[in-house]
Amino acid sequence: MTEITCKLLVIGAGPGGYVCAIRAGQLGIDTVIVESTKLGGSCLNVGCIPSKAMIHVAEEFEKAAEAAAGKTPFGLTAAEPKLDLKQAVAWKDGIVQRLNNGVAALLRKAKVKIVHGKARFRDGKTVVVETETGPKTIQAEAIVIATGSAPVELPFLPFGGSVISSTGALALTEVPKRLVVVGGGYIGLELGTAFAKLGAKVTVVEAQDKILPLYDAELTGPISKRLTALGVEVLTGAKALGPTPKGDGLRIETADGKERSLPADKILVTVGRKPVTEGLSLENLVLDMDGRFIRIGERCETAMRGIYAIGDVTGEPMLAHRAMAQGEMVAEIVAGLPRAWDKRGIAAICFTDPEIVSVGLSPDEAKRAGHELKIGQFPFAANGRAMTRHGEAGFVRVVAQAGSELVLGIQAVGQGVSELSAAFGLAIEMGATLQDIAGTIHAHPTLGEAFPEAAMKALGHALHI
Ligand code: FAD
Ligand code: NAD
Repeated sequence: MTEITCKLLVIGAGPGGYVCAIRAGQLGIDTVIVESTKLGGSCLNVGCIPSKAMIHVAEEFEKAAEAAAGKTPFGLTAAEPKLDLKQAVAWKDGIVQRLNNGVAALLRKAKVKIVHGKARFRDGKTVVVETETGPKTIQAEAIVIATGSAPVELPFLPFGGSVISSTGALALTEVPKRLVVVGGGYIGLELGTAFAKLGAKVTVVEAQDKILPLYDAELTGPISKRLTALGVEVLTGAKALGPTPKGDGLRIETADGKERSLPADKILVTVGRKPVTEGLSLENLVLDMDGRFIRIGERCETAMRGIYAIGDVTGEPMLAHRAMAQGEMVAEIVAGLPRAWDKRGIAAICFTDPEIVSVGLSPDEAKRAGHELKIGQFPFAANGRAMTRHGEAGFVRVVAQAGSELVLGIQAVGQGVSELSAAFGLAIEMGATLQDIAGTIHAHPTLGEAFPEAAMKALGHALHI
C-alpha cells in the first residue's frame, strides 16, 4: 500500500475543500487533497454553476418567446424561438469543464497534491484512499472534512425513472411537458422557474404554508406573482404521497386534506440536502454531531484535535461562499495564524425571477433579538434603471438599530439584485450605519441607487418617493 505523509489533508474538493487546499498551499503548507468524483464538488459540477447556466438559457428563451408573441411593451418582435436543449446542456457542460480545469490548475500552482479516490478514516491521523491503482494511506497532522452534501431522497419517492434530483434535472436533454416539483425551496423554485420559461407545465408541491419558507412574505410576494404569470401552479401545505399506480404522476394530499393526482412526465424532488458522511468510517473517530451534521466550533474545529470540518457537511447555511470562507480560514489556522469565524453576515441569494438577496437580520429576526428598529424600504418602481430594464417589481429594504442607526440587515427582491449582494455584504461587514449608506454617492442610473434611498427612507428623508 502506498504511503503518503503531509501536514494537511483535505477530504473533498468542493468549494470548501479546494479553497482550503489552495490557501494552505499558498502558505507553504505541504497539502494533499482527495476527491472521489470531480474537482469543484456539487457547486461546480451539479449545483451553482450549471443551474445558473440553465437559468440563463431559460431567461434568454423567455425573452425571445415574449418578442415572438409581440408582448414586449417596446415593440420588439421576432420569429418563434426554438431551443436545442441538448446543445444548451453541452454549452453548460463546457463551462463546467473549463472551471474543472481551472480548479486543477490553481491546485497545481499552489503545489497541492491531488489524489483521486474515496477516502475513509482509519484513525484521527490516518486516511485510506481507494484509488484506481489500489489503496493509498495518507498520514496527516491536520485533516479537513469537506465532503459536502447530497440530495435528500423521499423514501416513498426514490430517485430513478421519472423521479429526478437537481442533478438529473440539470442533465435533461428534453423539456418535460409536465413537471411536478416537490419542495418549493431554493432549488425547486430556481429550476422550476427555468423549466416553466422553457415551456414545461410546472406544479410546485410545498409542505409548508408558503414557498421559500426562509424568507418573509414581503420578499416572496413578487416571486409568487411571477410564478402565477408563468402559469406555475403552487400548492402549499401539500404533502407528496407517492407515484400514481400507473407511474404517470404524483399523488398528493392537498392543504384541505383531499387526495389529488398530478400528472407528470418528470417529478423533481428538491426537499433539502443531507451531509455526506457515509463511507468515511467516522465510527473510527470521536466526533460530536449536530443531528446528521458534524458539529464545529468557531474555528471549524471538531471534537477531535487536528480534525476540522467545513462547508455543507457542517450544516446550514449550505452555501458555496460560506464553505469557501471556512476553507480559507482553516488553512490559515493550520498555518498558525490567529483566525476565528468573525463574519457579521453571509449573503444568501435565491436566483428566482425576480431574485432575492438577504444579508444579516430580517425585520422579524431583529425584533426577536430585542432590537428597536428603523426600517426603510425603497421600491424599484421608483428607480429609473429598473424601469428602463422593464423590471420594476421589488424593493431594497434596510433594517437598522434605532439610536445607533447601525445597519443590522439588508434585503432586496428584484430583477438582477444578486449583484447588489456585494454592496450589501460590505456594508454589513464594515458595520455601516444608515448615514454611511445614505452618504455614499451611488452612480446613476443603477439599481444600486435604491440602496441609499432605502437608508434615507429609514432616516425619514428619501428623495425619490
Ligand atoms: P461539495 O461541493 O458538496 O463538495 C464535496 C466534495 O467532496 C464532492 O466533490 C465529493 O465528491 C467529495 N467527497 C465526498 N466524500 C468523499 C470521500 N469520502 N472521499 C473523497 N471525496 C469525497 N450555493 C450557493 O452559494 N449559490 C448557489 O447559487 C447555489 N446553487 C446550487 C444549486 C444546486 C442545484 C445545488 C445542488 C446546490 C447549490 N448551492 C448553491 C449549494 C452549493 O453547491 C454548496 O453549498 C457547496 O457546493 C458546498 O460546498 P462543499 O465544499 O461543502 O461541498
Ligand atoms: P431548501 O431547504 O431550500 O427547500 C426545501 C423545501 O422543501 C422547503 O421549502 C421545505 O419546506 C420543502 N419540503 C421538505 N420536505 C417536503 C415534502 N416532503 N414535501 C413537500 N415539500 C417539502 O432545499 P433545496 O431547495 O433542496 O436546496 C438545498 C440547499 O442547497 C439549500 O438549503 C441551499 O442552502 C442550497 N442551495 C442554494 C442556492 C442558492 O444559494 N441560490 C441554490 C440552490 C441550493
